[in-house]
Amino acid sequence: MQTVFDKLPLYAGVLILLASMLGVSSLLFSDKESPFINLQIPERVAPGQPMRAVVGDKRPGLRSLFVSVSRPGAHPEVLILDLKGNDYEKTVQFCLQDDENAESQAVIRIEAVDKSLNNLFRGNTSIRVQPVYLDNLSPSAEFEIPASPLVRGGSAFIRFNASEDLGAAFLAAGPLAFPLYSIGPRRYQSLVTMPVDVEPSSFNLYLALADLVGNSARLSVPLQKEDKQFNEDSILLTSKFLQGKVKEFSGLVPGEKDVLTLFLRINNEERIKNYKEIQRLCQDTSTEPLWEGPFIHLPRSTRRSNFADQRRYMLNDVTVDRQIHLGLDYSSTPKAEIPAANHGRVIFAGYLGIHGNMVLIDHGHSLHSLYSHLSSFRVGVGETVRKGQIIGITGTSGIAVGEHLHFEILVNGISVNPDEWADPEWISKTALKGADPAASF
Ligand SMILES: [Zn+2]
Repeated sequence: MQTVFDKLPLYAGVLILLASMLGVSSLLFSDKESPFINLQIPERVAPGQPMRAVVGDKRPGLRSLFVSVSRPGAHPEVLILDLKGNDYEKTVQFCLQDDENAESQAVIRIEAVDKSLNNLFRGNTSIRVQPVYLDNLSPSAEFEIPASPLVRGGSAFIRFNASEDLGAAFLAAGPLAFPLYSIGPRRYQSLVTMPVDVEPSSFNLYLALADLVGNSARLSVPLQKEDKQFNEDSILLTSKFLQGKVKEFSGLVPGEKDVLTLFLRINNEERIKNYKEIQRLCQDTSTEPLWEGPFIHLPRSTRRSNFADQRRYMLNDVTVDRQIHLGLDYSSTPKAEIPAANHGRVIFAGYLGIHGNMVLIDHGHSLHSLYSHLSSFRVGVGETVRKGQIIGITGTSGIAVGEHLHFEILVNGISVNPDEWADPEWISKTALKGADPAASF
């Protein structure tokens, strides 16, 4: 089969060939656009942290590519890339290794040349130079620890100054994690507790921290600890009390007919459920401390139970249940007015199982106060309250044998000894102004 070219004279074919060569050459000569270099390098990097550059040339493609990494005191590292295959775009990856003889300042230099015949056949060149700092130091912290020990069931503030800007940090002891709050440049505060059911010997508080490039450290918090013995107490249940609560409790455990079984299920399953719900609610907290001075307790009242009493529930001289009492019980005149223990914001006002009608107030920095067995509320959720403002009226809702106020203080959702927070001396030593970097213990 004949093509159109077969019919053309030879010179015409030569002319076409020359013209097409000139066309390509003129394209190569006319390309004055330099290769692009897109550097994705942060100001600081950790040893081994990958850095990337995307280098390419849309037309006519890359001819050569050099990447050099130089640090005073170390041999310069040069990467010469094999440009086989796709020479229109290349991704280069490199890193800085920890070298104790080398300085932390490094310079990345990238040189790319395209295939253009421009510049006397040398092509168009692009050069990018960027300094980078190798951060090979783990962050550290200078702690400020209270002079007095952390007592079992008690609270303590831990403060520290970090050696550099932090990317992440938390305080923890076993499965417990305590949030940190920023109180100044590189300065943090956390409110911690050693829960009543934790042996002081197994409560080992540590700070885990990471800097902005991911260097990390785990530091033991040098905290003094002290054990504490708690009282025993008996709660005398009566058939009359149990019968009187059937209507209120049967809604919580539907289908349970036996009165004692109903009570025991409420006092155990419901108690755990309620505690978990309170812990969940306590995650709602202000990043600013809202409280000021000592916390006030129910005025003109008599204390009926202490914090962490080891309680036995007795029915007809038989122990039917045991629980740890995680608050203080105060009885007063009937329908007594309950003041807010300190300034804060109401985060719950409603019915919650064993607590009956309950108010929960956030005081900021993971500190909360809780008021149970109310007969009525004087505040609603979201309301800001002042210390001493009436928030509700005492009653017998929930598991309350006789009218009283059950009062708790919680640190990060864990019940703590409220007596510390009512003690002006303890409070003054504990530092109130969380946001004041100059405040000290
Ligand atoms: Zn109580």
